[in-house]
Amino acid sequence: MDRELAIMNANQTLRGYGFTIKKVFCESNDKTFYVFTNEIEDALTAKSVLTRNENAFYYLLIESIVKPFLESNDDTFNFSEHLAIGITSANNLARKANITIILGEKIIKNWINQYWFQKIDSESKITLGVRTLAQKSGYLIRKYGLSACKHCSIVCFHGVKCSKCNVCWHEKCLPSNTLTCSSCSSPLLMDQICK
Ligand SMILES: [Zn+2]
Ligand SMILES: [Zn+2]
Repeated sequence: MDRELAIMNANQTLRGYGFTIKKVFCESNDKTFYVFTNEIEDALTAKSVLTRNENAFYYLLIESIVKPFLESNDDTFNFSEHLAIGITSANNLARKANITIILGEKIIKNWINQYWFQKIDSESKITLGVRTLAQKSGYLIRKYGLSACKHCSIVCFHGVKCSKCNVCWHEKCLPSNTLTCSSCSSPLLMDQICK
């Protein structure tokens, strides 16, 4: 049985218990991950694992990572410029969440080890990690008006875009030989910023 089919079958059972295995394409390192997620308990778990300040810190980091992407008018895209924050600025954000910078540094290190964030640019910056993409895509899309990939539903920053209706795909998620949009049949544009 191939992997995709095995996961589909597993998900049919897991969903009954509030779990899903999500396939997540991570744009920043061009890799595909399979992330085991807890759909129902996510909010509750986050609350019990993180303190209120840590939770605030987490969302502050997300906001400052996404901000340059939202504000940019460039028609090219790269992670270190458009979807990242410098490590020092990230550590400094801890203060805004009433956490000391030293503790903030430790927390960020843990979050990187747990794939919530990911180091890029010779480790001088951090961007969103695969776990954040898997578990917080819905939040990112709602809160910041970002696009969801038509195929995998994970937030999509850069990829293939319909020339008319704004539908997006990660480049890896678009079935090969697809040249027109499945929603409106207009031609698709490659290498686009999806927002
Ligand atoms: Zn996708
Ligand atoms: Zn379209």
